[in-house]
Amino acid sequence: MIIVLKDGTTKEQLILFKAALEEQYDVTVNTWHGVGSTVLGLIGDTTAVDEDWVGAQDIVDNVKRVQEPYKKANRKFHPDNTVIELPTGQKIGDGSLCIMAGPCSVENEKQINYVAQRVKASGATFLRGGAFKPRTSPYSFQGLKSEGLDLLKGARKETGLPIVTEIMSSAHIDMFEGVDIIQVGARNMQNFELLKQLGKIDKPILLKRGLANTIEEWIMSAEYIMAGGNDKVILCERGIRTYETATRNTLDLSAVPIVKKLSHLPVIVDPSHATGKSWLVEQMSLAAVAAGADGLMIEVHNDPKHALSDGAQSLTPDQFDVVAKKAFALKKAYDGIVNS
Ligand code: PEP
Ligand code: MN
Repeated sequence: MIIVLKDGTTKEQLILFKAALEEQYDVTVNTWHGVGSTVLGLIGDTTAVDEDWVGAQDIVDNVKRVQEPYKKANRKFHPDNTVIELPTGQKIGDGSLCIMAGPCSVENEKQINYVAQRVKASGATFLRGGAFKPRTSPYSFQGLKSEGLDLLKGARKETGLPIVTEIMSSAHIDMFEGVDIIQVGARNMQNFELLKQLGKIDKPILLKRGLANTIEEWIMSAEYIMAGGNDKVILCERGIRTYETATRNTLDLSAVPIVKKLSHLPVIVDPSHATGKSWLVEQMSLAAVAAGADGLMIEVHNDPKHALSDGAQSLTPDQFDVVAKKAFALKKAYDGIVNS
């Protein structure tokens, strides 16, 4: 349930009203303060809440029931875009274009440091790299695990780029202490126990869309993290499984404006996993910018032909340089058109 308060409601009136609601009903009240308006979002069992009583209060402008099952992630509860700010100053969702780039897997020190330097020089704002890899085959390279995390931290020290890497088990959360953004991969989007544990920490979570999940299921997974108290969720569209076989997945670009309409969370796009083909990454990156994405996640490898995972979809640093330049140029032009 959403309650919009009248302009001029005092702090004291707000405190009394919230206390009355929480005392009478089994709900918690979230408050969003905007310019000139205050919105209360009721979470919990709102079926018992007497709409007429609420609407009759002096300070209430209007009250409406929310149909969607997600509350904290719902734009109705939080009309402004969420901006995620890292302690190191980088922002996601503030209108800028963030680019997370790096290899699918961290392979060795030389590789990750070289790729980190190259993507930074091209304008990437984050370094990505997998240390724990969710592979379809148990016989494929599974990642360097904790050694991979250490190598990523070393590359961050060398370049200053914050790091993004995937977690596969809640048993590893302590190991991710020094990671800037924790990625939940497509295969774990509905690992609810993992999501609940990530809800208890104070670190941004990059939540990829599941292989065959609807937009609503995806936002509900974000809600799991937020329900635990962690509001720092970034959504990542990475393609879904369809009948099409020409690409690894089908990039659902309409998900970007749809999610941004339904939710206030930032949305980025991963054209690498979405297509599985390096030659498609440039066009799909530009299309994602035009769809209004807050950022891109792109796989970049020093030697894609010999990559231990996802070589076919990885760009060389030179190719990435071209894509990044075009993406930033398009973003500038796009902002000019959209804001005119
Ligand atoms: C990855 O980012 O390397 C990865 C495994 O992604 P996804 O979960 O989208 O398949
Ligand atoms: Mn990959």
